[in-house]
Amino acid sequence: MSQHFLLSAKARTLSLASILRMSDDEAHAAFVAIRWSANGGEPVCPRCGCLAIYTYAARRIWKCKACNHQFSVTSGTIFASRKLPIRDYLAAIAIFVNAAKGLSALQLGRDLDVQYKTAFVLAHKLREAIGSGQADTTLSGHVEVDGAYFGGTVRQENRKEDRKDRRLAVNQSGKRQVVVVMRERGGRTLPFVFRSEDESVPTIRARVETGTTIYADEAPGWDALHARYDTKRINHSIAFADDGACTNQAESYFSRLRRAEWGQHHHISGKYLGAYAREMAWREDTRRRPNGTLHGLAAAAALGHPVSRIWAGYWQRAVN
Ligand SMILES: [Zn+2]
Repeated sequence: MSQHFLLSAKARTLSLASILRMSDDEAHAAFVAIRWSANGGEPVCPRCGCLAIYTYAARRIWKCKACNHQFSVTSGTIFASRKLPIRDYLAAIAIFVNAAKGLSALQLGRDLDVQYKTAFVLAHKLREAIGSGQADTTLSGHVEVDGAYFGGTVRQENRKEDRKDRRLAVNQSGKRQVVVVMRERGGRTLPFVFRSEDESVPTIRARVETGTTIYADEAPGWDALHARYDTKRINHSIAFADDGACTNQAESYFSRLRRAEWGQHHHISGKYLGAYAREMAWREDTRRRPNGTLHGLAAAAALGHPVSRIWAGYWQRAVN
């Protein structure tokens, strides 16, 4: 049996210990190199894009010669108005990417020795940054489509004869949502959240190119896909794989999302379900990459992502 990828030396190219040994200057230099990698590590004005910049090395800020805007290495990024040392953000990204099954805010808060609220927002900023790479993606070739329900189930009775059939709408709380995933074989994974599988059809049409072969189960919600795509259906009650018509890769994505739900977050329905779904899609799509590569990808995504409309000043705005 071949060795699991995460057990191989190739999977380990990142050292949390070496991040924690960084000086402030080294951590700052690492952020500068990541943020402005496209300009050879030289700062670019985040407001006007000008390359002519005054440097105030002692204060680690810059000023644009064209528009006079003063900025730091995190200005205008998802880490804008940061409170922690840069080294802690590099460490947070390392802890986050190493957590193959997702990471709870409680655990991140303990590892970084910061408040739960701080860790909660920091982890969500990372989710927003890595998930944004899925925004304009379209799929083609062979694409598996499947749905899985999250949340909204009622608490089960103890005695078997009192138990309710939780598949029935009358026995659900109304908060139930479905994650529908489109997974290109050998390619990307795109999840979206809906109230029902039927509602996902316009999004599938927008994200899956014409000429694609779609694989889906017998759920009636997918019937509408036949009009546009060559659609192969699999009846799970009879067989799991019939003539290549399987949704195994979509299901392995859902098993990762379920493990994150049960093992880390305990409850991931509601308004954050999409964020967790996109995070686990990113993890699924990058699962064969070394953790040093993942760290670079996540850091570049965060420093290339604008200030979050949802998470910047989240607790200041929240009505608690
Ligand atoms: Zn400028």
